[in-house]
Amino acid sequence: MNCVFVGPPGAGKGTQAIGMCQRHGLAHLSTGDMLRAAVANETETGLKAKDIMARGALVSDDIMIAIISDRIEEPDCVNGFVLDGFPRTLPQAEALKKLLAERELRLDLVINFNVPDETLKERILKRSEETGGARDDDSLEVLAKRLDVYRESTAPLLPYYRTEGILREIDGTKDIETVTGDVELLIKELASVA
Ligand code: AMP
Repeated sequence: MNCVFVGPPGAGKGTQAIGMCQRHGLAHLSTGDMLRAAVANETETGLKAKDIMARGALVSDDIMIAIISDRIEEPDCVNGFVLDGFPRTLPQAEALKKLLAERELRLDLVINFNVPDETLKERILKRSEETGGARDDDSLEVLAKRLDVYRESTAPLLPYYRTEGILREIDGTKDIETVTGDVELLIKELASVA
């Protein structure tokens, strides 16, 4: 099973992706985590990405596609994966489709986590307090930019995947356990038609 989790910053995709990967033995592919590790290790990619991430802008499609193309070759991906934070643009979605097709793979499910802006702001501020501001993009200022970027570059993925017939929607405002239950329902639904 290969899935994509889509949603604005603070929608809960990361939390749900971690849980789903543990429950189903899938690889958790978070491009945000990969980039933060690259920044911490001061790799070439990390040095390029640092300021872009701090501003809430997007790292280039070429860099992101190269990262994912290498990552899906890793042995832990053989049983499937959850992509968390990728794709974030239409060119990334097209590249992903091609990468998967070359390996005779495909996406089974794309879950969109719906959460209104006001709730996202509250959650990001809470995360910032809880982590002692560990992420320098967890400020209200940068969040506003990340939301603009989401609407402009990432939201067009929704009609794209709707047309492919693999998009499912989840109300991400509910508590974590309820959202987890809703994710599991979608997976059961998928298994029953497979
Ligand atoms: P995230 O942890 O998913 O919120 O990602 C943190 C930051 O990493 C984003 O605001 C972007 O600057 C960068 N990033 C993560 N994934 C991507 C992607 N697929 N394309 C471009 N930039 C990305």
